[in-house]
Amino acid sequence: MTAPTYLSTRGRAPEIGFAEALLRGMAPDGGLYLPSVWPNRSPAEIAWLQSLPYPELAYEILRLFIGDDLPNGALRAAAERMAAFDDPAVTPCVELEPGLRVLELFHGPTAAFKDLAMQMMAPLTEAALEKRGESLLLLTATSGDTGAAAVRAFAGSQRIRLAVLHPLDRVSPVQRRQMTTSGADNVLNLAVRGDFDDCQRLVKALLADEGLREGQRLSSVNSINWGRLVGQIPYYLAAAKATGGPPRFVVPTGNFGDAFAGWAAQRIGLKAGRLTCAVNANDALARALNEGRYARRPATPTASVSMDVQAPSNFERLVFEASGRDAERTAALFETFAREGAVEIPPDLLAAMRENVEAVSIGEAETSAQIAHAWKAWGRVVCPHTAVALAAAGRVDRAEGPVVALSTAHPAKFPEAVSKALGVEPEAPAQLRGLEGKTERFEVVDADLNAVRAALSALA
Ligand SMILES: *Cc1c(COP(=O)(O)O)cnc(C)c1O
Repeated sequence: MTAPTYLSTRGRAPEIGFAEALLRGMAPDGGLYLPSVWPNRSPAEIAWLQSLPYPELAYEILRLFIGDDLPNGALRAAAERMAAFDDPAVTPCVELEPGLRVLELFHGPTAAFKDLAMQMMAPLTEAALEKRGESLLLLTATSGDTGAAAVRAFAGSQRIRLAVLHPLDRVSPVQRRQMTTSGADNVLNLAVRGDFDDCQRLVKALLADEGLREGQRLSSVNSINWGRLVGQIPYYLAAAKATGGPPRFVVPTGNFGDAFAGWAAQRIGLKAGRLTCAVNANDALARALNEGRYARRPATPTASVSMDVQAPSNFERLVFEASGRDAERTAALFETFAREGAVEIPPDLLAAMRENVEAVSIGEAETSAQIAHAWKAWGRVVCPHTAVALAAAGRVDRAEGPVVALSTAHPAKFPEAVSKALGVEPEAPAQLRGLEGKTERFEVVDADLNAVRAALSALA
């Protein structure tokens, strides 16, 4: 099967195959990779994909975007990992009340939605390296869940070493333990004195560092990597089948990766309404879409810590698409943003984005009230990220179609926020039990490139 090649949103990098894009993460011109052509499916083909069990559906989506750029066995192995989730439906889409459902994305090994992509990314990355006889240093910035999912997916890998940067004291203890207790020698955890955006900035700088690149591959498992996003497309198709009519998805949003995967699902042919991005007090995306000015501010710590992002990296993909794939314009806009920390979005671009995407910001009090409401109204304990989505879902007009709020983490990963709202702690699923007794391994470093570079030598 012929799959698309991949181009950069900034238009100054050569087009490459999927495997190469997977190993690179970010494009050398500072842009993000996207398929050169979206593989569009007919309604009948979409219906057929939706009829498949989840691992089969995931395999077919991988095939659309990878084709024979990787051995078929690797695609099969990646999709098979979905069969190990603790629910037979993998991503059950549960009705809360007529017209409102919640899409459970927390049935993987670290009980958060990032498992869905990361579990598939590991075998694909191994296969890409094997084909080239190479090894890889993976760098990732995390506000909690990405690091946990990455450690779980890549620990013990032969060809891959993994360095995870998290903001010191800004991830929950459960999240930290999931990252720091693997005992794997190919994993290094760094606790950075700073916020998530500092971690993301450091990773970006390291990825652009020619010296570090010398003699080894460097890449990232952040959602700037197209290989991550492709693993998040299948559940949008699966969920839309459960609703019967074209759904309106409400996505708890940080880096805009999950929401962009929903956008991509529509691009390949899924019928769905406008996407609603639910953000917390870190509302750069909402201000950009609602006010037309994309501006960075210092991150505010919230209960939905995995969404404490002020410069959502995947926003660039949306801008590129909304501009009619104008790489010059996209590059100019994000270069201005990088330089000045703020940029005006031209009205035509804004209008094009708003056709498909809207954003709502939910404050801390409303998030907490929604956790209480979910328990009272539906007998469900939800995590703060899910509560942000449910609160935003409450504002979506149900006359426009059935509403699906994405539930991105198991509540037991965030016991403090939940017990504050409900007075009881959520019960931990099997994945999260037994972490407390284990030895943790991490190093505290300043938010400084040289300090991080020095710490990385421990992985050599
Ligand atoms: C990462 C994460 C999000 C945000 O997803 P993005 O792709 O960064 O927008 C939401 N909820 C949870 C629990 C997460 O871990």
